[in-house]
Amino acid sequence: MSQKIKLLVDGAFVESSTPTYLPVENPATLEILAEVPLTLPEEINQAVNAARRAFTTWKEVATPERARLFLKYQHLLKQHQNEIAEILSRENGKTFLDAMGDVWRGIEVVEHACNIPTLMMGETVENVARGVDTYSYVQPLGVCAGITPFNFPAMIPLWMFPMAIACGNTFVLKPSEQTPMTSIRLAELFLEAGFPNGVLNIVHGAKDQVNHLLTHPDIKAISFVGSVPVAEHVYRTGTQHLKRVQAFGGAKNHMVVMPDANKQQVINSLVGASCGAAGQRCMAISVAVLVGEAQQWAEDIKTALSTINPGVWNDESAAYGPLINRQSKEKVLRLINSAHLEGAKILLDGSNYSVKGYEKGYFVGPTLLGDVTADMSVYKEEIFGPALLLMNAASLDEGISIINSNPYGNGTSIFTNSGAAARKFQHEIEVGQIGVNIPIPVPLPFFSFTGWRRSFFGDLHAYGKQGVRFYTETKTITARWFEEDLPGGNVNMTIQL
Ligand code: NAD
Repeated sequence: MSQKIKLLVDGAFVESSTPTYLPVENPATLEILAEVPLTLPEEINQAVNAARRAFTTWKEVATPERARLFLKYQHLLKQHQNEIAEILSRENGKTFLDAMGDVWRGIEVVEHACNIPTLMMGETVENVARGVDTYSYVQPLGVCAGITPFNFPAMIPLWMFPMAIACGNTFVLKPSEQTPMTSIRLAELFLEAGFPNGVLNIVHGAKDQVNHLLTHPDIKAISFVGSVPVAEHVYRTGTQHLKRVQAFGGAKNHMVVMPDANKQQVINSLVGASCGAAGQRCMAISVAVLVGEAQQWAEDIKTALSTINPGVWNDESAAYGPLINRQSKEKVLRLINSAHLEGAKILLDGSNYSVKGYEKGYFVGPTLLGDVTADMSVYKEEIFGPALLLMNAASLDEGISIINSNPYGNGTSIFTNSGAAARKFQHEIEVGQIGVNIPIPVPLPFFSFTGWRRSFFGDLHAYGKQGVRFYTETKTITARWFEEDLPGGNVNMTIQL
């Protein structure tokens, strides 16, 4: 019997009474690591109630005191970084080094949450009228919920609950049912740091559990990260139930390669950005747009990609791990096959790759497809696998036009030695996160994660100042203190000339 994953309700880890559990599978070995419950509606209500009760006292805890608890939490996360990364690698499949990066990027958000007193500063204007001052505070919303994907089991939950809780909210997290174990370890350390019971709660499950959260009257705000159709559903349903929603979806990220770029840097960057984490990053570069003479680099890109191999999480020679599950592997193979049928050049085909000793694992070898055009299925769908598509463009203008015609807008990059080309690109491109000679431009937590178009539904983005604005409401006070009795009785709106 494998371990049953617990819920976290009001500071206690409890077993769900549901009869229905899903397996949590190691995607390299197919070993069942644990079973995750499809939490019952009344258990979700208990978690929300615990968060609602905790809010009444947590919001009154002094802001610097909340920051101090996050300092303790940051310390504990760093202390246990290797152990968290190992849990994460086993359930997600990514290599240990990549898992360490996943945990580290989450720790950086916790560090950001330690600055919460400064981040929550309001605005003031003295003398908006004679003797009258206006000032604003930001105050927490109440119970917030987070729904997370499988591909960053540490970083993405840590994008959400630390910022929300630092602002004075309480939280209900619904981690991916495919990678729920990392969240439990993050929560154990959270409790060890000394946060009060009920401030963070965890429920597990899938579609039905998410829908219950989206329609729960006591939840004020929803943060979601996952695929585009679900992001859209979460945004529509959550806002229809009058909640604040930020919903981050999938992507198709392009790198424009100008012929004046440093060729070796381009090739190194493309290998890591396309196949790292088996291409299962929302900011992975899945399309290289080769401009002019750069089209001649296809063969060298192929040579570089053919030197890397996938493997199991603790194989130090492995560049990346397996795909998360059988359906993901089947989707990637279907898209590679469709590219072949629709006229792309198959420069490198990872479809029949297997790792010795792990033949049943969901591995796909590095794949390179040339002469891809915008009408092919492999281009239109998010592939989320270790495959790089090459497209040709005659000019930077054509490259920009290809990217701006794509419905997604998460990330993009340009490799060039021309400041003018980079400046034109960053100005004209309709994508929210842009790298200049940086392949995966994920902003550090003092900025915000700013996907655009169908990669994001909402307005205020994750972490940074926007994250604080998302998890708070502004209260504006206009005040006058009388020094002496003044004549009163004016009922008209005042004007000052
Ligand atoms: P997913 O959409 O399948 O699942 C995400 C979450 O939604 C999970 O917690 C899942 O239980 C829940 N869910 C799934 N189907 C649902 C439904 N029909 N109704 C309600 N809830 C549902 O995504 P995934 O496969 O776990 O993650 C990969 C996707 O996430 C990719 O598309 C990737 O690009 C995207 N992603 C985006 C970002 C970003 O910042 N934009 C970051 C990471 C991942």
